[in-house]
Amino acid sequence: MIEIETHVESAGEHLEHLTNKFAKRNLNKGRGKQCSNCHLRLDHNMRNCAIDKYLTSEQCGDPSKHPEERSLMDSATKNLKMLEKELRNKTNKYDTRLKGLNSARSSFAQTIRGALINSKKDNYLVKTGSGIFVPKSGLVNQDIAKLEKHFHGKVPDNVPEMSKTFQSIIQILIKKNFFILVLLLSNIQREKH
Ligand SMILES: [Zn+2]
Ligand SMILES: [Zn+2]
Repeated sequence: MIEIETHVESAGEHLEHLTNKFAKRNLNKGRGKQCSNCHLRLDHNMRNCAIDKYLTSEQCGDPSKHPEERSLMDSATKNLKMLEKELRNKTNKYDTRLKGLNSARSSFAQTIRGALINSKKDNYLVKTGSGIFVPKSGLVNQDIAKLEKHFHGKVPDNVPEMSKTFQSIIQILIKKNFFILVLLLSNIQREKH
């Protein structure tokens, strides 16, 4: 991503450099008739041109009259456009992937949240001073994360029915983690001896 951005930047700088060199605006401005000898727009023609024929558009500012220099600029433009397109495509792909990831994540939490809270209200809700019940966000989010792990991020079919198993899944995960912890500790103890 950063690599392609750098390429676009340097391709842009290259084109700008060529433009400044071969297509200087101030040399070829004005609406006067262009002379086919000097390529300037000074309202004269090649018959009464007093200027030596220019061999490069560095002097006349009109690369369209100098095929080699024009093709240099054309290929620099083409290269820049190609890189810009590549960057756009990559950015789009990245955005789409991120969106997909975020929506999968938030939709799991959104779909599960209510059912989880309902599966053990006294555990997840706390009564505020004004008498309304609000969820304990920290605990709710922790348990959503456990369920998300258990279901591999996929919302289970029939959430209301499945929600009856939520608490035992969470308890098993807690026990499993506890068991792993005990195992780790006993290994450490054993290593000490
Ligand atoms: Zn001229
Ligand atoms: Zn010229």
